[in-house]
Amino acid sequence: MPHVVDHFIAGAAVKDPAASNTLEISNPATGKPLGLVPMSSTEIADQAVGAAKKAFATWSETPVGDRVQVLFRYKHILEDNIDTLANIVVEEHGKTKAEAIGSVRRGIDCVEFATAAPALIMGRTLPQIAVSTSFCRTEDQGGVGIDSQVDRVPIGVCAGITPFNFPVMVPMWMWPMAIACGNTFVLKPSERDPFSTVREVEMTRDAGFPPGVLNLVHGGPDVANRLITHPDVAAVSFVGSTRAGEHIYKTGTAAGKRVQCMCGAKNHSIIMPDANQGAAIDGIVGSAFGNTGQRCLAGSVVVCVGDAGDWLVKGVIEKAKQIKVGPGGEKGVAMGPLVSQEAKDRVLNYIDAGVKEGADLLLDGRACQMPSGGCFVGPTVFDNCTSDMSIVREEIFGPVLSVMRVKSLDDAVDAVNKSEYGNMSVIFTDSGHAARKFQRTVQAGMLGVNVGVPAPMAAFPFAGWRRSFFGDLHANGEDGMRFFTKSRVMVTRWL
Ligand code: NAD
Repeated sequence: MPHVVDHFIAGAAVKDPAASNTLEISNPATGKPLGLVPMSSTEIADQAVGAAKKAFATWSETPVGDRVQVLFRYKHILEDNIDTLANIVVEEHGKTKAEAIGSVRRGIDCVEFATAAPALIMGRTLPQIAVSTSFCRTEDQGGVGIDSQVDRVPIGVCAGITPFNFPVMVPMWMWPMAIACGNTFVLKPSERDPFSTVREVEMTRDAGFPPGVLNLVHGGPDVANRLITHPDVAAVSFVGSTRAGEHIYKTGTAAGKRVQCMCGAKNHSIIMPDANQGAAIDGIVGSAFGNTGQRCLAGSVVVCVGDAGDWLVKGVIEKAKQIKVGPGGEKGVAMGPLVSQEAKDRVLNYIDAGVKEGADLLLDGRACQMPSGGCFVGPTVFDNCTSDMSIVREEIFGPVLSVMRVKSLDDAVDAVNKSEYGNMSVIFTDSGHAARKFQRTVQAGMLGVNVGVPAPMAAFPFAGWRRSFFGDLHANGEDGMRFFTKSRVMVTRWL
């Protein structure tokens, strides 16, 4: 019998007898079955929230210095287990080993940042904000001094709903900071590759996390929807598609929750004629085809100014042809499979659509040399694309690069800003003037100059603008701390 993965509630593995069915997960490179995920009942969400609520009473009163000690221990356990976690990610998701290790490392960065909670959540005081003279004034005092302070306090039980594409890292954008701030947490990972997330959560037991501080439940939208409307949940952090994120934001906020939703993307990169050609070509290839294009920071549209398109397209195709496509764990492989057959079918449909819409298919990922049987699609490049084409407008989430050609930087910025998304945008140029204009006019939350993937480190906020994000405070950095705490102001007068 294939293994049915457990929930993790109040520090123990838990089964859900009421789960209606299970989802089979297989290795996308080989088709080998890996296990079953329970599509759980909403009762399992209730049970996890109940455990988190119980733990909150003690955990929120535990000194912050003691709370971060478990994170220090956990960080060392993670360091010792990078390989174990990365291997599971390769197997269930399809990333190459290098990509998987990189993603775990970025998760560890978030744990490290959360250990700074004693400094981050410290409040502020302003003594002597006023002198009370109207009441209780004594002659020798000349009035009574009034002080004020603001504290940051935990908000309660928080829920996290995460996507398939970074199954170890994205949950760590949420729960380490949430619990360092004194909250307790219920995580619902993607149902498509939950095994590495389960390992990530199980390891907290070895670090000495008290039961109920971090809980994990499996399932699909039913479980997620229960969490985002549960009366005992105070805040919801979501990462995933715009379709699901918009729904979660509207539903969660209507139920009175604090909600942040980091969503889908269609990222445009601008190439100026004066750019360093080697750096631009490498940057675009890495951005478009790294992680098989399954990244919210994937640069899937390139807008070339003037004659930049001539050398850029030639260079990108030359490099892309050298990418070895195959199982992520195999030596020399630089691009793994897509996560599932469904994802592969979606990408193939977009390649068909691009051809029908009139774009020039210069490199066809269907014809690339790759193993048969897995969910593979090779690097694909379309040239002479326009803003109205679906391959420019819609998130494909696969290794498909759409190239547009325009006359000026103004035209390029217009093309970027026509997108309904605004997660990230980058420019490759040697001109400070062009870079500055780009920075001031492009509508996106994360920008880069001469880098293909402007991924902010854990100390900086991570999120886009427009339909790439719903909410106010972004993930990570100081924004993350503020999202997982609320402020309380006190005015004091001693008579
Ligand atoms: P998805 O939206 O299909 O699923 C994400 C999570 O939401 C899963 O846990 C899923 O079970 C749940 N979910 C799905 N539909 C739901 C619904 N109707 N109600 C409640 N919950 C629901 O996303 P995915 O395919 O797993 O991940 C890929 C997407 O994530 C891409 O769009 C990508 O751009 C985005 N992403 C964004 C960021 C970012 O920081 N902006 C980071 C990583 C991924």
